[in-house]
Amino acid sequence: MSYLVLARKYRPKNFSEVSGQDHVVRAIQNSLKQNKVHHALLFSGTRGVGKTTIARLFAKALNCLEGVSPEPCGKCANCISIDEGNFMDLIEIDAASQRGIDDIKELTQNSQYTPTQGKYKVYLIDEAHQITGPGFNALLKTLEEPPEHMKFLLATTEPEKLPITVLSRCLQFNLKRISEDEIKLRMKEILDAEKIEYEDLALSIISKSADGSMRDALSLLDQALAYEDYKLSEDNVIDMLGLIDNKYALSIVQCILNQDSETLNEQLEQLDSKYPNYNDVLDGIASIVQEIAYLQVLDASKVDAQSEVVELSKNHEPEIIQLIYQIAINSKRDLSMAPSSREGFTMAILRMFAFQLSDSLNDSKKQSVSAQKKIKKSEPLSNGKSDRYTISSNNWTKEVAKMNISGAVKQLAANCFFDQIDNDVLYLKIHSQNEHQMIDRAVDGLNSYLIKHYDGFEKVLIHIEKENGNTLAGEVKTKNEEQIIMNESRASSDPVVQEYVDLFDATIEETK
Ligand SMILES: [Zn+2]
Repeated sequence: MSYLVLARKYRPKNFSEVSGQDHVVRAIQNSLKQNKVHHALLFSGTRGVGKTTIARLFAKALNCLEGVSPEPCGKCANCISIDEGNFMDLIEIDAASQRGIDDIKELTQNSQYTPTQGKYKVYLIDEAHQITGPGFNALLKTLEEPPEHMKFLLATTEPEKLPITVLSRCLQFNLKRISEDEIKLRMKEILDAEKIEYEDLALSIISKSADGSMRDALSLLDQALAYEDYKLSEDNVIDMLGLIDNKYALSIVQCILNQDSETLNEQLEQLDSKYPNYNDVLDGIASIVQEIAYLQVLDASKVDAQSEVVELSKNHEPEIIQLIYQIAINSKRDLSMAPSSREGFTMAILRMFAFQLSDSLNDSKKQSVSAQKKIKKSEPLSNGKSDRYTISSNNWTKEVAKMNISGAVKQLAANCFFDQIDNDVLYLKIHSQNEHQMIDRAVDGLNSYLIKHYDGFEKVLIHIEKENGNTLAGEVKTKNEEQIIMNESRASSDPVVQEYVDLFDATIEETK
């Protein structure tokens, strides 16, 4: 096959072949039909959406030997000459390199001469926002009073950088980013014309990666075809683009939801061997979970989803799906702060896994215990329980003193005393005079802290009693009282204090 870059070979030769910019094409064709063509047009839009392509078609429509028309013939000498890029009256200027006052002056002086080949001299200035201030001033005069035979076409990715004086003299067209569907459709047309076989998913991946740019899509298509000797398969496109197969993301989501730690471990190892961009993998996971959530809320038949995703949407609670989505999104932010992106990613996955776990534990407990304060879902479990402690009546107050809690949670813990651990439940008691400490926030906070940091129980219940037991608050109070007595006796026996008492006839006051 003689090789010609696809983007060039399949550059639209007439307006009907332009993808995704119907609104602009229609307006231009109408102006051509009525022969009311403005002398300066500005095409704005991101890269690769067709700005210069439309500008060239416009030049063709003006200079076609068949006469000015909404669709140039494509066959006459002028049309062919423009297609081949050697039409003398289409002058293309790249303002990235020709932007100064001298360049623009030369341009405006030359523009006074009548066209040599066609009816109109068309100046196409690409990256027009890069023209310098004096350059714009030089251009302005010509834009105000252009010769009859002259048309200006400005293309820019950043129209906001153009002076208002220039903007106000141009008819402005904003070109859209091209949708994935439109890009895919165009690629199919090209591949069919080239008689090249392709896998549909390969095209989906390319059109997604192109991010709205037809030019990028076609050059990726070129690369992909060269990469695998004119065949287009999903696997090879993934390899070429350095994307991590979405199957990994799907498989990880499946393992999390089905609580399959063994396969999860295998998948994470395989994934790591491919040196993935973990940020992208989290994106992949978020996309799949988003798809599942969408299926759960909306009509599944309207979504083009893989069957595995449909299956997951049927078998798992929407709450857990939302939670995994949140973790995936939030973990992306944390990735840069983790010791390595791999570790950050692994923690994110463990967190998703643990939330599932704690959720299912709560479900089973809910059925056996009732009429008690509900336990909040535990914080994510840390990996391994080796740093966890046991609790008993002997160490309860010491442990409470060590706990990294504060405020109302600490107050509550300090006023509770240990009762027993029975059937996976830690029973604590509190004296009825301290009942006011049992606000929901404190109870929930203490419960989740205890479950997270101590072994031997999965649930905590606090009963209100008429008696008191061994509490940290009680110990502190006793200690304070002892201290006061000690201080008093120390004060009365201190020689300096005694001297003051004698000297001023003072007394020692007890304070609490
Ligand atoms: Zn023609």
